[in-house]
Amino acid sequence: MPAQLRDNNWLLSRLDDLWSHYFADVSQDNPVLIGFGRYSKYRLGSIKMERRGHRSKITITGMFKNPNIPTAVVDHTIAHELVHYTHGFSSKKVRLHRYPHAGGIVNKELEQRGMGFLTKAYKSWIKKYVSKSIGAN
Ligand SMILES: [Zn+2]
Repeated sequence: MPAQLRDNNWLLSRLDDLWSHYFADVSQDNPVLIGFGRYSKYRLGSIKMERRGHRSKITITGMFKNPNIPTAVVDHTIAHELVHYTHGFSSKKVRLHRYPHAGGIVNKELEQRGMGFLTKAYKSWIKKYVSKSIGAN
C-alpha cells in the first residue's frame, strides 16, 4: 500500500479526529482552518486569528508532509494548537491564562484529556531528531 499522501485534507482529517475524540466538550465558536505552511525545522505549528474575518488558522510545518514523521508527532502538534484555542488564544473563547505556555499548561491539558501518549511520542521523536540534526552538522 502506498504511503498516505499528506496534504491539507489529511491534516483536516487529523484535526477532526482529535477534536471528536479529545475535545468533544470544546465548541467550535468560529471556523478553524488548518494547512501546511513553509518547511520549518523549529516552528512546528502555530495558531493565529485572521486579521480580517474571524477564522482561526492552524499552520503546520511543511516538514511534516514527510511520511517518515510519525503521525503521533503531527497529532501532538495539532493538539497543542487546539489547546491554545481551548484556552482562548487565537480564538474567541475566554482567555483562561495570561500566557499560552505558562507553567507547562499545554502538556498538562493534553495529559488531562488523555493525550499523554502523544506528548511521549513527540518527546522521543524530538530527542532522536535533535541528535540526528547535530550529527549532520
Ligand atoms: Zn504553543
